[in-house]
Amino acid sequence: MAADTESFDLLVLGAGSGGLAAAKRAASHGARVAVVEGDRVGGTCVIRGCVPKKLLVYGAAYRQWLADAPSQGWLPLLGDGLRCDPALLLEQVRREVDRLNTLHIGWLEKAGVALLPGWARFIDAHRVAVRSQGGQERLVSADRILIAVGGRPTRPAIAGAELGWVSDDLFELQALPERVVIVGGGFIACEFANILQGLGVDVVQLVRSERILRGFDGEAATLLQESMQECGIDLRTGVVPAAIETEAAGGLSLRTASGETFRCGGVLLATGRRPFLEGLDLAAAGVQVVDQRIPVDANQATNLPHIFAVGDVTDRINLTPVAIDEGRAFADSTYGNRPRQVNYGTVPVAVFSRPELATVGLSEEAAIERHGSDAIRVHRARFRPMAQALAKRGPAVLLKLVVENGSDRVLGCHMVGDHAAEIIQMAAIAVGMGATKADFDRTMALHPSVAEEFVTMAN
Ligand code: NAP
Repeated sequence: MAADTESFDLLVLGAGSGGLAAAKRAASHGARVAVVEGDRVGGTCVIRGCVPKKLLVYGAAYRQWLADAPSQGWLPLLGDGLRCDPALLLEQVRREVDRLNTLHIGWLEKAGVALLPGWARFIDAHRVAVRSQGGQERLVSADRILIAVGGRPTRPAIAGAELGWVSDDLFELQALPERVVIVGGGFIACEFANILQGLGVDVVQLVRSERILRGFDGEAATLLQESMQECGIDLRTGVVPAAIETEAAGGLSLRTASGETFRCGGVLLATGRRPFLEGLDLAAAGVQVVDQRIPVDANQATNLPHIFAVGDVTDRINLTPVAIDEGRAFADSTYGNRPRQVNYGTVPVAVFSRPELATVGLSEEAAIERHGSDAIRVHRARFRPMAQALAKRGPAVLLKLVVENGSDRVLGCHMVGDHAAEIIQMAAIAVGMGATKADFDRTMALHPSVAEEFVTMAN
């Protein structure tokens, strides 16, 4: 090995949620650790995902609160109205992201983890070249390597796709156009449809299938879809995009396969993400790639026993808390003498739309597929929450339990409504522990609340 090669016990590729968690935990167990990052420390979640998105969700929510204000006795003073300035919100969000980025760098330093800025490329199974922005390369070797480079948004294979934005681009905008077309019906499409609509943008959302959020409980997803349409999002289903073109008069137009044209100031392509493997030269190390992702075993090991992978690059459950737990489980098992595996059994999920949709366990459809329709039953409550009573507005909230008849076990717990994510996070403890419907019924209601309906549903 070359004399100028730096060496570590663990080299982590990627300073996102999974990589940072693994690096700090391994260092806390006494390992000498370095992290390679070509972009900003924090990864998708902190820099261009969960965190700035949620800040925009909070900002966009004011539209509804302000609209409701008169029904609560809050009247605007003449000539002293409020207007939305999305540019100001976007700038504030970027500043908060900068603050968090600095914090994460500080936390690495504090943990004794070396940060190697640059892009990683495997030389062989133990060595990696790190190329800095200035073009200098340094060679690093390690006993173990953890690949935690995450994913990137994809664009559909349509003409002019490069003219559209992906979600990363939205956080960099200096202003929002009057009208945006969103392609997709998944997490990102639904969340941004609500954010943009809340910030005053005229939103058209084009979904190629019959409803949004494939894989989610159908009743819950349908209620969210109807709620989004009611609040003014022009959400159309069964629409397939064909091309994006520039307009002579400025702006863009999106043409659909059926020949319809939507003019707008911007197109957001929210059509999925895939592992970011470009430039890694995994073949040089002999790391196996299947369907553009790195397969791993229950201990996060790749086909090579000293190279591991966690998070979106493995394309399993692509959520921040899952990546963090995978990173920590790897570090605890490998360096902390505390072998453990990640519990993928009951992972709660939320779509931060308006209203929120959150879920843990099986959807009604998945429960029927797994257990048969005679083996399960469904309990639900659907009503207008008290918070909206004075404003006399929708949408309704939905709380739903999917229960196995034989065992009485709650297989799935779903909610559409304000604070659904906060409520389902707690319900996930019960579902994860194997709670039965009788356990839910035995729990005293907390009145008046929306969540109390989960423990008062008739049998
Ligand atoms: P997604 O949830 O997989 O949704 C992709 C959407 O794009 C689907 O509606 C899909 O339709 C549609 N689509 C795919 N190719 C298309 C094409 N060629 N033309 C038209 N529509 C097309 O992906 P995402 O919303 O981009 O999010 C990516 C991942 O990020 C998620 O899976 C999740 O893991 C993570 N994420 C999580 C959160 C959260 O936890 N709140 C938020 C954002 C992102 P079909 O359903 O018909 O395939």
